[in-house]
Amino acid sequence: MYHTIVIGGGCLGASAAISLQRKLNKKGKQEKVCLVEKAVLCAAESSRHSGIVRSANADPDASMMAMISTKMWKNLSEVWGLDMELDEFGAIWIAKKNSEGENPVWNDLSKRMNKINLVFEEINSSSAVEKCGTTLLTDENESYFYEPDAFQLDPSILRSTLYDALDHNGVELMEKTEVDTILTKGSEIVGLTTNNGKISAKNFINATGAWSSQLFSKIGIKIPVTIEPVSVVNWMESPKQIRYEYPIIADYTNLCYFRSWRGNKMHAHQPRKRSVYEIAKNFLNDLTTVNGGEYLNEPMNQSLAYNQIKNYEDISKKRFSNIDKTVYASGYRSFFDITPDLRFILGKDSKYNNLFHNLGSGQAMKYCPVLGESIAEEIMNDYDLINKFDYKKFNINRFSDDYMKEFWNLVQGEENTLHRQGKNTL
Ligand SMILES: Cc1cc2nc3c(=O)[nH]c(=O)nc-3n(C[C@H](O)[C@H](O)[C@H](O)COP(=O)(O)OP(=O)(O)OC[C@H]3O[C@@H](n4cnc5c(N)ncnc54)[C@H](O)[C@@H]3O)c2cc1C
Repeated sequence: MYHTIVIGGGCLGASAAISLQRKLNKKGKQEKVCLVEKAVLCAAESSRHSGIVRSANADPDASMMAMISTKMWKNLSEVWGLDMELDEFGAIWIAKKNSEGENPVWNDLSKRMNKINLVFEEINSSSAVEKCGTTLLTDENESYFYEPDAFQLDPSILRSTLYDALDHNGVELMEKTEVDTILTKGSEIVGLTTNNGKISAKNFINATGAWSSQLFSKIGIKIPVTIEPVSVVNWMESPKQIRYEYPIIADYTNLCYFRSWRGNKMHAHQPRKRSVYEIAKNFLNDLTTVNGGEYLNEPMNQSLAYNQIKNYEDISKKRFSNIDKTVYASGYRSFFDITPDLRFILGKDSKYNNLFHNLGSGQAMKYCPVLGESIAEEIMNDYDLINKFDYKKFNINRFSDDYMKEFWNLVQGEENTLHRQGKNTL
């Protein structure tokens, strides 16, 4: 019997397994953590992300967690027992100014970030160009903010580091092992059946991301998670124009994130949609399309259509002066796993005493060290980190029947008409 079985070998499952095994090892316990993955480590969303780590966030708890996470990434040997290469080039945030020529929302964010010692400061357009080179197109109606501590990492290096850290700390990794049935007794989970036999443990962590709602509905837990498809492109670039040491560009004018990629490429993807109507549409779509995360591993879904590449080309041309002279290198489709409020689902389940959730809601790679440590602390009853932010607000119990009723009321009946969608706020 294992101390804990983590279901799902993405970056969130792997980091939780590593943190928990390290805590057990430090206490001199002989007990083992087992990580069960139906394909291979980071087979899904965790290998198709952009590797961007920025901390400024409208939600103060999310910014605090991102700050702690940034410190962990930069001293990873303390958290995972080994270090990883990071590219620390900072990030430039860009948005349209309001009719008074200001950006009060980000000015306010800057003040709040200052209070937690996170630098997120306004810079002028020439300073932005200086940091990027003349290929960056600027506009007097835009404002520019700089987050120097932001960094980027390489998803394939993260994947290798996770393999090494699991091994280094003694986590048992079972790949190509799919959990089929969750066995319960009263308010406890007692075991799992898989294609490689039955396994049991004292505790269970759900880190199955987009697959969560399908797997756990079998034992009566409603996990409101679905997928929002997204496309990604990489443009071949000249290092003479866009060097590798290029800041991340978080472009909220054109709704696109850009970063330099190995092999002299410029990488671009669009962010999650924020309106309740758009979020709910993904929950509706899920009923009629390929189930949950299977979307990603379906080969027919991998290639990009011409209009998607063209969309990115049009956006890129608005931000970079030279992109029309460059070459499309590669692209693929991926998905964000999203919840109704676009926040994580973290911590103990409301129905089963020995079940803990660790899900990302579309933007969690950067938080994986802090999320792994937090879940490990909760399981070990050894609170330190989770006292530093409001961990409980991310608990699954917030999605009560009343909450979900209100959510669906926003997209049903009269609310589901186009003339009302602009008014929808949750
Ligand atoms: C285009 C794109 C760009 C992104 N960029 C960033 C970024 O710059 N910064 C950032 O922080 N985040 C980013 N993200 C988000 C980030 O990738 C995810 O939040 C993160 O990878 C989620 O990790 P996970 O472990 O929760 O999920 P996953 O990686 O999806 O892992 C879930 C795992 O569970 C396994 N599984 C499912 N069912 C079972 C079962 N029954 N039995 C066993 N195993 C099972 C699956 O095979 C899968 O490997 C991006 C996402 C996308 C799509």
